[in-house]
Amino acid sequence: MVGVVTATRKTPALRLVAWGSPPSLVDVGVPEPTGTEVLVRVEAAGICHSDLHVLDAAPGALPYRPPFTLGHEIAGHVAALGGEASGLAAGERVAVYGPWGCGTCRRCAVGEDNHCDLRAELSWSGAGLGRDGGMAGYVLVPHSRHLVPIGDLDVTQAAPLTDAGLTPYHAVAGLKLAEDASVVVIGVGGLGHVAIQILRAVTRARVFAVDVREDALDLAHRSGADRTLCTGAGTAAVLRRETGGADAVLDFVGGDPTLALGAEVLRPGGTLVIVGSGGGKLTIAKPGPLPQGASVSLPFWGSSRELREVIALARAGSIRVETEQFPLSAAEEAFTRLRDGHIRGRAVLLPD
Ligand code: NAD
Ligand code: ZN
Ligand code: ZN
Repeated sequence: MVGVVTATRKTPALRLVAWGSPPSLVDVGVPEPTGTEVLVRVEAAGICHSDLHVLDAAPGALPYRPPFTLGHEIAGHVAALGGEASGLAAGERVAVYGPWGCGTCRRCAVGEDNHCDLRAELSWSGAGLGRDGGMAGYVLVPHSRHLVPIGDLDVTQAAPLTDAGLTPYHAVAGLKLAEDASVVVIGVGGLGHVAIQILRAVTRARVFAVDVREDALDLAHRSGADRTLCTGAGTAAVLRRETGGADAVLDFVGGDPTLALGAEVLRPGGTLVIVGSGGGKLTIAKPGPLPQGASVSLPFWGSSRELREVIALARAGSIRVETEQFPLSAAEEAFTRLRDGHIRGRAVLLPD
């Protein structure tokens, strides 16, 4: 079922209109939910580096079909429910689980839309990624199962936690770390600084953080990293010496240099977790650059159960996203600042 768009009520939306064009803020109709759909009044929407990858993508590189509204980190409150939507009431404060799948496969049935069996056939990866997302006054959510109540948690926290919190949480959950483990976090931006806090909250690992920006390393330190390093010629040697070989590397960049660094500092049997979509390449070969017994994982977002756990951690005060807030009308400035490496933590857009 697809919501009906009313001609009379209009709302601003930041849309990718065509591949290769900058996002444009245009007025669109407010959809009316039908069937299982829920209309959410957006109160905050985070800007992810993936949004820049989408804007920079060559036509045909991604399966999405513009035009669509950007924004996959969303929080707000329930504005209206379709006739078959249940489990929530109008006015309830919610975070939106973003990686919407086909809705019918075994994975989607248990809230693991991030691993939807039909993912390769869909023309979207989720809200704001091929489907209309949350950089707008309203977002139409296909089903109430994608909505997680946030209680009294601030929407400017809840929105970025749906990805900048959920993705690292899922990545860390996939690791088996001994009490004396060493973990290297590469890239301390929106995801990376929350990753450090999650490692602190749910593991006993020593955390080493690496970035090219000094203010990102300050943030790493405040997020609980035991050691921070500015990337340079000797970084791999220092990390190898100080970790004795890392048990896991979480790469939130995914470029050629960071993948090479990760492979170099990993201990035999360690795990390289490639979260960043930087398009870098790493040779998988035996023998090759990875140590013996190494594992490589390519996590994508997380499950809706894990999002509930992330929201619970935030409500308990164990994790806190550092945010810079902008009105939706200043989205262009926020995107430029993110591209230039001037955002500390996560940029979050608020309704004007
Ligand atoms: P961000 O821009 O907020 O942070 C990236 C950080 O990496 C910045 O602090 C930057 O200074 C640092 N960095 C850049 N080059 C570096 C290098 N060579 N060495 C060390 N540090 C370097 O980005 P973000 O929103 O946190 O996203 C990070 C990556 O994760 C992006 O590629 C994004 O597309 C991807 N992502 C993946 C998933 C997933 O499900 N796998 C989900 C969300 C985001
Ligand atoms: Zn994202
Ligand atoms: Zn599915």
